[in-house]
Amino acid sequence: MAARSIELTGRLYKYLLDHSLREAPILARLRAETASMAEANMQIGPEQGQFMALLIELTGARRTLEVGTFTGYSTLAVALALPAGGRIVACDISEVFTAMGRRYWAEAGVADKIDLRLGPAVETLDALLNEAGAAGSFDFAFIDADKSNYGLYYERCLSLLRPGGLIAVDNVLWNGSVADPSKNDEDTRAIRALNEKMHGDTRVGISLVPIGDGLMLARKR
Ligand code: CA
Repeated sequence: MAARSIELTGRLYKYLLDHSLREAPILARLRAETASMAEANMQIGPEQGQFMALLIELTGARRTLEVGTFTGYSTLAVALALPAGGRIVACDISEVFTAMGRRYWAEAGVADKIDLRLGPAVETLDALLNEAGAAGSFDFAFIDADKSNYGLYYERCLSLLRPGGLIAVDNVLWNGSVADPSKNDEDTRAIRALNEKMHGDTRVGISLVPIGDGLMLARKR
């Protein structure tokens, strides 16, 4: 026992999955199809998808945002957890990657919950902010796109969230690079900058959860 988060060995991670994962077969198939792609590491792990689904249930979210959809695994995990009438505005720039997601969303019967908007997410979020009634109306936002724009996505999602709404920012530990002084590439610097900003941001309550590659949760006050 120690007063710090436990280090997950391969054996212990397997135990965690064996004793908690309840991945729907359709999610498992989407994950398997994505695994053959060169960009497969852009997909969240199944236990993180399940955690986010639980967050959706906990918060009673109905209106959600996703910045960075890729092949649609996180989208599907959230959509399956949303109540009837729930909705995800999903932002991505890739027609090719999201086409895979669309197939699974349709098969799962949740396509009507997902409003995919192809284009630079900053533009999509700005357009949303200009829609009447959209600002302050969302319950949940997942940010998992190009890291250099993380700060821009955070501010826009925070504006779109209602008080009490939750933002989840992915990859905030960036495979350890954030704590490695020798790593100073643009992505690492952008993630560090957002982590520092959120740490001191009194507009939100936060917790950095060491699941997957690090997930920063922020509840808007
Ligand atoms: Ca990610």
